[in-house]
Amino acid sequence: MSILLPVCNSCGSVDVKADAFATWDSERQEWQVSDTFDKGAWCEDCETTVSIEWCDIQ
Ligand SMILES: [Zn+2]
Repeated sequence: MSILLPVCNSCGSVDVKADAFATWDSERQEWQVSDTFDKGAWCEDCETTVSIEWCDIQ
């Protein structure tokens, strides 16, 4: 089984954050991520909006 890791398509960093929708879970009393978007991801190393590539680390 392959293990996929989201990486920055510009610098290859794994320190990326996906843009996402969250929906409120009233039982857990916390936000749950419902959908993430490949476009509009943020890279902490580039400090800008980047695209995510999926790296197979297996
Ligand atoms: Zn980057």
